Amino acid sequence: MRSLTTAKEISWCPGCGNFGIFAAVKKALTRLTESGVSLADIVMTSGIGCHGKIFDYLNLSGIYGLHGRALPTAQGLKLANPKLMVICFGGDGDSLGEGLEHTLFAAKRNMDITLILHNNGNYGLTTGQASPLSEVGFKGLSTPKGNPEIPFVPIPLLMEAGATFAARAYSAKLDHLADILYQAFTHKGFSFVEILQPCVSYNNTYQRYNASTRFLTELPTDEAEALRLAKDKQVDYLGVFCQKHRPVYHETLYGGDKPPAFSLSERLKILGG
Ligand code: SF4
Repeated sequence: MRSLTTAKEISWCPGCGNFGIFAAVKKALTRLTESGVSLADIVMTSGIGCHGKIFDYLNLSGIYGLHGRALPTAQGLKLANPKLMVICFGGDGDSLGEGLEHTLFAAKRNMDITLILHNNGNYGLTTGQASPLSEVGFKGLSTPKGNPEIPFVPIPLLMEAGATFAARAYSAKLDHLADILYQAFTHKGFSFVEILQPCVSYNNTYQRYNASTRFLTELPTDEAEALRLAKDKQVDYLGVFCQKHRPVYHETLYGGDKPPAFSLSERLKILGG
């Protein structure tokens, strides 16, 4: 198997939670290849932000998207070539700020792709502004007196939008994270993984998450229970909250697992030629 790491120098701050995510992604991909999946059939997209640097470090093909547009490129890749396994990396803004509508619609459509949300609770790359996931009271460049807004709670939001797989993990619990990622990659349908990711420079949450996280022991009994656990304000539960099946978008659209074949004249007609 080819190396999953490129020769690019890693520029994340020492101690950043992105290191744990990078290691876990490689572990999950290695497990995939051991089960027979070719790396040539796995592609990635990312947005802009500290999370997006993973695109430079991970040796996969893909598209380094515009800010907030990691999911449209991921969906385009899947629709153009459904045999690809598509992994989309998104930060707070890509997933729930500028990219919010793409996230909700990808879940609603049940696109057969994986969205990995690096939830660091701020915009780290631009030196710590409040994001859609910043806690009330978060003090950063844009909120020196404290963030007055409540943060989104991603798991319930994505479940309500239609995600057929929703899970939460913590970048410091590497083995658990790698296992969750493997489950997400192999799920047929829209899989969403929220990763609690400390940003040591602007939102160092290691102490909080070390104390507040707890593993789910089993899949919640029903949706109401899953939502209750996902919204818990005292405990940050880690694990799979929902896993179900319904038709995936491209198969419904194409009536199978392949895009329709157009003749040259049909293509020219579509293009207005
Ligand atoms: Fe990581 Fe925060 Fe540094 Fe960005 S600014 S690399 S998220 S620690």
